[in-house]
Amino acid sequence: MARGLLVAKFGGSLLRDASGYITAAQEVARLRQEGYQVVVVVSAMKGVTDELIEILESPSGWEPRLRRIMERYYSAARGAVSSERELTSVLGELSRLFDELFKLVWAVKVIGEATGNARAAIVSFGERLSAALMAAALRSNGVEAVWLGGREAGIIAEGDPWEAVVDYEASEPMVRSKLLPVIERGVVPVVTGFVAGTREGRIVLLGRGGSDYTATLLARFLGADEVVLYTDVPGVMTADPGRLKNARVIERLSFAEAMELALLGAKRMHPKTFEPVMGTSTRVRITMPGSSQSTLVDSKGGPPPLKAVVVSEGISLVTVVGGGLVGRIGTAAKITGVAARLGINILAIMQPITETRVSLAVRRDSAEKLAKALSEELGHIVSEVEVEDASAVSVVGDGLREPDVSGNVVEKAAGLGGVKSILWAPGSPILVTFVEPDESWAIAEKLHEEVVSQWRID
Ligand code: ASP
Ligand code: MG
Repeated sequence: MARGLLVAKFGGSLLRDASGYITAAQEVARLRQEGYQVVVVVSAMKGVTDELIEILESPSGWEPRLRRIMERYYSAARGAVSSERELTSVLGELSRLFDELFKLVWAVKVIGEATGNARAAIVSFGERLSAALMAAALRSNGVEAVWLGGREAGIIAEGDPWEAVVDYEASEPMVRSKLLPVIERGVVPVVTGFVAGTREGRIVLLGRGGSDYTATLLARFLGADEVVLYTDVPGVMTADPGRLKNARVIERLSFAEAMELALLGAKRMHPKTFEPVMGTSTRVRITMPGSSQSTLVDSKGGPPPLKAVVVSEGISLVTVVGGGLVGRIGTAAKITGVAARLGINILAIMQPITETRVSLAVRRDSAEKLAKALSEELGHIVSEVEVEDASAVSVVGDGLREPDVSGNVVEKAAGLGGVKSILWAPGSPILVTFVEPDESWAIAEKLHEEVVSQWRID
């Protein structure tokens, strides 16, 4: 009666207090009743990762702040673990973890400095406490469960302790040998998201929002049928529902579309979330516990051809102009080289084929610095450097690869007042318009109504 293997990840947005753990435990119990084998991945309680990072950064008041974090876990445990025996045991476990955390932070405060691995180890406690609590909440809901750290579960990663690179080859056999026997015994492994370990066993993290990535990594290594990313919204939306009242949940996305939307920040997601399952038959569902709606992401995707409109604010276009640019090999490299040297990230690059101007889209707070450096350093080839504020309104959908669909978007966008520029790279499932900042939401609404929704199929 096994229906397949499912990795269920519960995000921090859901894990605010006891009720989040209760909802999660009931959801897992329901999936098990439906016949699924389940692996659970958890984030830290909401806000805890930020708070731990701040404690590491700020010199004073760390003790009461740590205790407040701890109090949140204790109180969530008291509310979410109904069995008296389970509660006593999990409170003991949480307090042992807390002692360890306390000692680590104490050592860092006394020494006055910490290695990246020590800091990563401290921040990992948000997830560790959460996993211990979730396993107890599951057991008290009649689901046998054990919790494991990311390294104990077999995820091996190297490099930057805040954003380590996962070693797929080393991790796959480890994850399988650690988790499959547990799953086969009918026990649910609860794994800390965001946390991995080096080959030598030092703790490293997978980058902010890394729990989603943990879930898809485990799914890949275990050959799971589905990953469910449970969050506080019922799926990825066609637009920001706080701004556009007709925004709806998108039913299906391809990995390519979902990746663009994740990078645009439509739903705050780790940029590597879909990487492990691309090209596999594992599907990813994004939903809220108890919701009948969801977004299903897989390699095929599906209709409609256009999925969403996303507004990105706080951008500036820095444009260099001058006859000196024309036909001179290496000017683009010089211009982008100035940005690279200043550590400024380039969001978009535009140049007409006459090569008379080059526009770079950058974050607004770095625009003036870039413009100044460009006119100082490239004054001999550049006659003018202009800076103008903009927002980006992006349309996302695999259908953009079809000329009639992309042509229609360009035509509509070009007809709207306030659009400064339209950018669409060949074969790309994203078309970006740079617009007057004041007009961005009006333009987004028009594109949402007249371009994205025209394909609605329900
Ligand atoms: N707790 C980590 C963070 O806040 C990882 C995650 O929630 O995905 O970034
Ligand atoms: Mg999170």
